[in-house]
Amino acid sequence: MFYWDWTYFLIIPGLLLGLWAQAQVKGAYAAYSRKPTRMGRPACEVVAELLRRNGNDRVRIARTSGQLTDHYNPADETLNLSEGVYGSASVAALGIAAHEAGHAMQKLEGYAPLQLRSAVVPVVNIGSSLSTPLFILGLIFSWKPLVTVGIVLFSLSVLFALVTLPVEFNASQRAVRMLAEGGYVTQEEEDGVRKVLRAAALTYVAAAVTSLLSLLRLLLIARDRD
Ligand SMILES: [Zn+2]
Repeated sequence: MFYWDWTYFLIIPGLLLGLWAQAQVKGAYAAYSRKPTRMGRPACEVVAELLRRNGNDRVRIARTSGQLTDHYNPADETLNLSEGVYGSASVAALGIAAHEAGHAMQKLEGYAPLQLRSAVVPVVNIGSSLSTPLFILGLIFSWKPLVTVGIVLFSLSVLFALVTLPVEFNASQRAVRMLAEGGYVTQEEEDGVRKVLRAAALTYVAAAVTSLLSLLRLLLIARDRD
């Protein structure tokens, strides 16, 4: 009932954008993971040096399984590089590793959007699993306060998706700057790095759009039931 009303169509543009972004990431990664950098040094080595050069010696660099599972964990300050990135000297690998190093630099410098994001994570995790059930229960029992609580909890995950955008764009800017300053990439390789990171950023834009549209949908449903 609830899931198949017309408002469901509102989310479709977000979902399509997400699929398109995924395809962009796959395409850029496929192309640039086959392109070796002229310098030929593996990403794990380059990223360690990037961090050292930028005064960050707190980060532990680790290898993680899976494809494109690279991430930086601000809680324990580990920079996790996926199998295809860790030992690779490709343009894509250097770009992705340097992006994660960008997050590590954000943590070191106390970059505000990253701090805000880390602060809301626990609330968002609880909120996102409770918001829809509470919202639906509120509708079933026609109890407005419960509907409102569901919407407020959902808004937190929207806030999370939005604050993720500056965090991601800034990490990519830092990545390009650090790689270029250190002379790790040629101009042509830098363009490749930008393409890979821009595609990855698109997935976060798609997630934010989908999240906003979902919130709009909840608001419309709540208004209709009033
Ligand atoms: Zn990132």
